Amino acid sequence: MSEHATETRGFQAEVSRLLRLMIHSMYSHREIFLRELISNASDACDRLRFAALADPALAGDGQPCEIRVDFDSKGRTLTVTDTGIGMTREEAGEHLGTIAKSGSAEFFAHLTGDEQKDSQLIGQFGVGFYSVFIVAERVEVRSRRAGSEPAAGVCWSSNGDGEFTLETITREAPGTAVTLHLKENAAEFADPFRLRSLIRRYSDHIGFPVLLRPDGGKGEYDRVNQAQALWTRPRQEIGEDDYRQFYRHVSHDDAEPLAWSHNQVEGRREYTTLLYLPPAAPFDLYNRESPRGLKLYVRRVFILDDAEQFLPLYLRFVKGVVDSADLPLNVSRELLQQDDEVQAIKGAITRRVLEMLARLAADEPEKYRTFWREFGNVLKEGMIEDPGNRERILPLLRFASTAGDDPPHSLADYVARMPGGQKQVYYLLSDNAVAARQSPQLEGLRARGVEVMLLSDHIDPWLVAHLDEIDGRPLRDIASGELELADLPPLTAATAPDDAMAGLYARVAARLPERVAGVRASTRLAESAACLVRDATDPGPQLRRLLEAAGQKMPESRPWLELNPAHPLVTRLNLLPDGPAFDSLAALLADQAQIAEGGAPPDPAGFIRRLNDWLLGNY
Ligand code: ADP
Ligand code: MG
Repeated sequence: MSEHATETRGFQAEVSRLLRLMIHSMYSHREIFLRELISNASDACDRLRFAALADPALAGDGQPCEIRVDFDSKGRTLTVTDTGIGMTREEAGEHLGTIAKSGSAEFFAHLTGDEQKDSQLIGQFGVGFYSVFIVAERVEVRSRRAGSEPAAGVCWSSNGDGEFTLETITREAPGTAVTLHLKENAAEFADPFRLRSLIRRYSDHIGFPVLLRPDGGKGEYDRVNQAQALWTRPRQEIGEDDYRQFYRHVSHDDAEPLAWSHNQVEGRREYTTLLYLPPAAPFDLYNRESPRGLKLYVRRVFILDDAEQFLPLYLRFVKGVVDSADLPLNVSRELLQQDDEVQAIKGAITRRVLEMLARLAADEPEKYRTFWREFGNVLKEGMIEDPGNRERILPLLRFASTAGDDPPHSLADYVARMPGGQKQVYYLLSDNAVAARQSPQLEGLRARGVEVMLLSDHIDPWLVAHLDEIDGRPLRDIASGELELADLPPLTAATAPDDAMAGLYARVAARLPERVAGVRASTRLAESAACLVRDATDPGPQLRRLLEAAGQKMPESRPWLELNPAHPLVTRLNLLPDGPAFDSLAALLADQAQIAEGGAPPDPAGFIRRLNDWLLGNY
């Protein structure tokens, strides 16, 4: 096929799907298409400036970087023109026919088919160029790549239902013009007042002038926006709404940020940061490959998206901008990796974010709860990844506890509630919060009015392995070792351990040598008959599973079986002579203890047989 011929191509299947979804679910916010077009135009100007650093000829014709919005109310058209980097024919086919975004496969895998939910996801994904088809029945993009011949222009056009065409054209100036033939019900967008207010609302912070002709005709263009990069303006001149709009620009997220922090640092190092806390976790938060990081500018020239070198991994949810006055303009990702300047800025950004979180927790607890729900598990990684900031991270952590988990508790709350004699901070690890709350392990402490933190997130076993103490009080896993409860308020006499049963424990232990390391009276239990307890040196089932999954060989270990001497089943067991009934009930108690902690008996069929024997009164 000759390169001048008109060529028709199908959209990538995902694009067609995205278009259908968007046209249906984004209708109530359809004006966002203008923000997307102006944002693309601004990106194109950024990229031209950046490319011109290496090849000044690209900025050649001396035309200023700017964005013009033209409209024709009668013809119902709207055109957004930029003098940015432009596209070749090939690029137009590639960029406006596929979805190149990383994580897009995951995005599509997350779609549920439920419009309400999917439209929220779409906001996170960033709708981009394709949003033009919410308001346009036909779209033409005329473009020419900076540095190419006028005859190497391209016209891309489509009506958004499955196909687009490419045609080579001659275009006088480099840059791009996107023309929308508006649907009948979208005529409102070919109106100067509507356009002006939308540009002010959505694009005021764009660093390039956005121009509009008040009459749409031949008159002079007006500059509509401030045309000064938001973060370069003095803080006291920036309104909350400006900050919110800018968040939409950097994050492609339609929701409102939970908080932001804007800092202009002067002195030996000179740089500006504008950091945002998003209100919701992205669908790919746990994908190590997914893009993260800040937009990097050097002296207001855009350099890189997703510069992850400025944020530790455990703060990967932060969005925003860093603008350095000291880095070289030709800095690359590889250089950023080793640069001391970058390390210093990263350290400062980390502290800023932790301060912002501390402020949010103190001043806006509701919002902090949202933050914790969305990103708490990621922040916990910081206790392991960033030992230098442990003191700052620790007060930000929240946990469920036997005192109720709504709202979640800080460690300081826990310590403040500790009764006088309590010397340790108690916790229980489990696989899920519901099992944790019902665990027999809690009974003795609950009966004594002692609070226990309930840890059921996948990262919690690691976390406690890195946390020895809180304010000088050691952390104590209540499911391992012997619980020293001497300092705590005593239990009622009826449930106190009874030495008269010592013979029983040895008899039970002799029947279950494969299953338990030993049998003893429990200080933990109040209502249940039995529970399993690990040695203090045993990593416990949760950490054991994590380590095994990571390929570590773990030594075999058998738990202790603890019995509640005040429980009628245990008293009954004590009265049974050696024989099948004794063996069966002893095994059944071990089965129960295993089930209560969320496990399964090693021999389920045997368990059912034993249970049925007792239910049928066979003994
Ligand atoms: P994003 O902006 O997030 O990359 P979009 O869907 O908005 O996604 O745009 C897709 C791609 O199309 C851009 O990455 C860019 O390569 C290209 N593009 C869109 N608009 C322009 C423009 N005005 N000038 C140059 N390239 C553009
Ligand atoms: Mg875009």
